[in-house]
Amino acid sequence: MRPPPPPLNSAPLDPGLYVVSTPIGNLRDITLRALDILSSSDLVLAEDTRVAQKLLSVYEVSRPVERYDDHCDARVRPKVLEVLAQGGRVALMSDAGTPLVSDPGYRLVKAAVEAGAPVYAAPGPSAALAALAVSGLPSDRFLFAGFTPPKSTGRRAIFQELSSVRATLIFYETGPRLTDSLSDMLMVWGDREAVVARELTKLYETVLRGRLSELIERLGAQAPRGEIVVLVGPGSEAPATPADVDQALIEALSLSSLSDAAATVAKALGLNRKTVYRRALELKSERADKE
Ligand code: SAM
Repeated sequence: MRPPPPPLNSAPLDPGLYVVSTPIGNLRDITLRALDILSSSDLVLAEDTRVAQKLLSVYEVSRPVERYDDHCDARVRPKVLEVLAQGGRVALMSDAGTPLVSDPGYRLVKAAVEAGAPVYAAPGPSAALAALAVSGLPSDRFLFAGFTPPKSTGRRAIFQELSSVRATLIFYETGPRLTDSLSDMLMVWGDREAVVARELTKLYETVLRGRLSELIERLGAQAPRGEIVVLVGPGSEAPATPADVDQALIEALSLSSLSDAAATVAKALGLNRKTVYRRALELKSERADKE
């Protein structure tokens, strides 16, 4: 149903660049201030002008909209700085959520700051924070790491880099590479608590919570559709028990060679590599005896 346009604030808008957050799914997740700003701007910059026009028309906002993304930055940025220098009001929005968060805007905001133009935030939705808020994972410290790299080697390198970070880690992910990504996380970090938050605020919103190995099993081979945030809890600071080591080794051995599995588990649990290697050998021969 089309929401009725809310009453707008008639106070004049101060000149400057406004970074405006927009809904990540549910169109009603727009703030009244975002609508005030959009309807009083001399120029609205949007990643995709059709997506922006759709949102603006729902709220009966009619302002000039121009495309702005990293590809046209060099052409559009000088024009925008000129509008700002003349005391104009420019609103920057992306297709969804908060501009600059895995979206264009950084170069423009930096240039506006350097030019001494006022820059204001109109805060609102962002998938990373929405997912953190419902995850049930520790929220006192978190690190947003953007999209995971498309290839496994790149992903594992980034995950290794983040191994010692004691915070909930947040990634943007795509459906087709979700399970590969979760398997790489399991390889590098062991079986941490994780959450897959899909299609937040939309009709098919789903939030899966569990250990990485459980999530991989539940997701199966079929790539989920839609937009996805993956969150991974901080590694445990309590020393790993022998049962933890065995569990992590069994999972790692199913994905890689004995020496790789031992190295990964030793690193993830902060243990001596030779000791873990010896235990991996024992587990392997125990399994061979049973077969
Ligand atoms: N700037 C946006 C923000 O603040 O959330 C993010 C833009 S980024 C190009 C798009 C990615 O955000 C998607 O691929 C997905 O990982 C995540 N995302 C956006 N909307 C989402 C939603 N409704 N549910 C889950 N993830 C979402």
